[in-house]
Amino acid sequence: MSLVQRITVLGATGSIGLSTLDVIARHPDRYQVFALSGHSRLQELLGLCVRHRPQVAVVPDDQAAEWLTTGLRAEGLVTEVLVGEAGLCDVAAAPEVDAVMAAIVGAAGLSPTLAAVRAGKKVLLANKEALVMSGALFMQAVRDSGAVLLPIDSEHNAIFQCLPGDFGRGLEKVGVRRILLTASGGPFRRTPLAELAEVTPEQACAHPNWSMGRKISVDSASMMNKGLELIEACWLFDVRPEQVEVVVHPQSVIHSLVDYVDGSVLAQLGNPDMRTPIANALAWPARIDSGVAPLDLFAIARLDFEAPDEVRFPCLRLARQAAQAGQSAPAALNAANEVAVSAFLERRIRYPEIAGMIEDVLNQQAVVPLADLGAVFDADARSRQLAERWLQQHGR
Ligand code: NAD
Ligand code: MG
Repeated sequence: MSLVQRITVLGATGSIGLSTLDVIARHPDRYQVFALSGHSRLQELLGLCVRHRPQVAVVPDDQAAEWLTTGLRAEGLVTEVLVGEAGLCDVAAAPEVDAVMAAIVGAAGLSPTLAAVRAGKKVLLANKEALVMSGALFMQAVRDSGAVLLPIDSEHNAIFQCLPGDFGRGLEKVGVRRILLTASGGPFRRTPLAELAEVTPEQACAHPNWSMGRKISVDSASMMNKGLELIEACWLFDVRPEQVEVVVHPQSVIHSLVDYVDGSVLAQLGNPDMRTPIANALAWPARIDSGVAPLDLFAIARLDFEAPDEVRFPCLRLARQAAQAGQSAPAALNAANEVAVSAFLERRIRYPEIAGMIEDVLNQQAVVPLADLGAVFDADARSRQLAERWLQQHGR
């Protein structure tokens, strides 16, 4: 193996993709970009190709491929352009690739992320929806292929850093009592409940501590993000939902904690900048500079904690129920949420209807076992259909 690791960045034009490329560019001696993918921001993708000179770029369709190819050739680049989900799976599994950053948002990332897992790559997992949808099958694929799965979500990366190297033996065996998953509480932590019906997508996307894509920003406002992360933690660390406690911590300095049976509680702290978990996972088990400023505890001065309010954040309750029900419930939850969040961003529903719609849609379907990936996609499609029907009846 060469010393330089070749990286595929799925979702390169997004918030995580750009932070990943920022870290990679700081270490040309260690990392080289093999492939980049983008879905809608083609001009940005072209700019990234000029800057990082990947061997392959992936776009959604033939028209986008033609546009990008023309742009690339005009820049004197020979980058090959692939198309669609097949192209994404190709660059995720290509033999030249050492590590794959899975940073596509939502269910669209499942197939390419799994392609990387099945090819036994080092998989840096930002695309939590993929794991939420297919948890048991996903983790089985990791075990079967010997892929190295490293969490990028800041909370899970924090937990990973606070666990001993042999945590795969089982958290009880290594003396863990609980996982404490921190949450900022988002922009509506203190908004009077009566005003929530009037909040706008812009307000929902203005997160107090983190700058992120629009979908995860809305998820953070509703705390569905924490619900998805609860499910994500159960799969990554093989714990039951009851062993994961959500702690609202508005400063977003402690990224999560692990509570051990001897009373020790280990936490990982840092500035809220995704380049820290990205650098941690890229270089693991080594440490590299991420470009993130050192933490200034005197400037932060205090850290606050409070219990989550499930009346204010019903999505957290819905996600916990789905985690407990298991099987198809998390996939159904995720699909309904994806439809609800897009509808909110398009102003077809109001903010409180996100949770209302998801609950109605989940009540309309049975929880079924997920024997294979086909069943996962069926559960996703069924829940999307019910959600679309709900929108036709109640949306604007
Ligand atoms: P984003 O919206 O900024 O970027 C999403 C990326 O996915 C873009 O490159 C886009 O082109 C691509 N994409 C969108 N739809 C696609 C489709 N149908 N097919 C192929 N590609 C598609 O999102 P983000 O904030 O970077 O988040 C990406 C993932 O990382 C999400 O799963 C999110 O939950 C997770 N995550 C993000 C953060 C963060 O700080 N942004 C933190 C933790 C986890
Ligand atoms: Mg997170």
